[in-house]
Amino acid sequence: MYIADSNRYTQIPYKRCGNSGLKLPLVSLGLWHNFGDVDRYDNSLKIVTRAFDLGITHFDLANNYGPPPGSAERNFGKMLKNELASYRDEIIISTKAGYTMWDGPYGDWGSKKYLVSSLDQSLKRMGLEYVDIFYHHRYDPETPMEETIQALELVVRQGKALYIGLSNYDAEQMEQAVKILSSLGVRCLINQPKYSMFDRKPEKSLFSTLGKHGIGCIPFSPLAQGLLTDKYLKGIPEDSRAGKSHGHLRPNQVTDDKLNRIRLLNDLAVKRGQSLAQMALAWVLRIPEVTTVLIGASSVVQLEDSLGCLKNKSFSSEEISTIESILNS
Ligand code: NDP
Repeated sequence: MYIADSNRYTQIPYKRCGNSGLKLPLVSLGLWHNFGDVDRYDNSLKIVTRAFDLGITHFDLANNYGPPPGSAERNFGKMLKNELASYRDEIIISTKAGYTMWDGPYGDWGSKKYLVSSLDQSLKRMGLEYVDIFYHHRYDPETPMEETIQALELVVRQGKALYIGLSNYDAEQMEQAVKILSSLGVRCLINQPKYSMFDRKPEKSLFSTLGKHGIGCIPFSPLAQGLLTDKYLKGIPEDSRAGKSHGHLRPNQVTDDKLNRIRLLNDLAVKRGQSLAQMALAWVLRIPEVTTVLIGASSVVQLEDSLGCLKNKSFSSEEISTIESILNS
């Protein structure tokens, strides 16, 4: 029986999520990879409990995480039931719907039918009465946004979710969503965009839009799925995401151009006395609108290494311009 470390709230700072009442740890853990039925349950459990011991109170899921889809929620539900039940009120659990989950016209995208049924399924899989945050996972160009937002508002009113999140919505889509939400008298808590040294789209206008509306931000894939570490410098390890057949990072994404930049970034990280993973996470946290950085981990060692980013989060202007020149050359 797991008993949480009594020092867990001395390990990591918590930051207010936009203008809301909710604070999130500066680092949150996502269960996209490494928590499905293809993974070792004992390893997944070790990562989750170690994260909680280190002060990570926020765990991010989605209906389709696995593989197979749904299995990450089921496995996390088992952990909640067997190990973490007494800590439910100390944990922020998010899930999402928006990508393909089941066959037919109601298992994908952004209709009210899909979102409401999917959340019901997620709650069953996790054995929960409510999730803390329910996200629409991606913008749906075919469903009127009013319908999608009404579905999110409905589940909040029903008490099946406490807060609303939007993921993969750009600045323009957020502006539209904010208008609809305010007409319904509800707010969006948080936006979840892809953001890392290798994918900087949110810098253009998303961050400022979120800041303007008091919406929090939780960037995903801050290590570009593991590329922003030193692991690929000597080839593709078999047990890495790019080396596994079900990993979303494919070997052809580990290009020579990326490797050259990774090598230079790694040299700078070593000069700063950090691992490259730590520097890449600190770099994401430099954005004032970012509430928390959403990491993945395939082992406790990686989790602990990544959390070490909090020991040195500041960058000199020289370091920032060195990074800019590496990324833009
Ligand atoms: P990262 O960019 O942090 O990549 C995580 C992977 O990098 C790990 O699984 C591991 O891969 C490797 N890694 C992590 N830490 C280290 C370290 N310290 N040293 C060396 N290697 C390391 O994030 P993810 O792509 O996993 O995304 C994080 C979360 O974001 C997801 O779990 C999910 O919750 C969310 N997400 C949301 C999406 C959305 O559309 N809203 C889309 C994608 C993710 P390896 O297996 O190689 O060891």
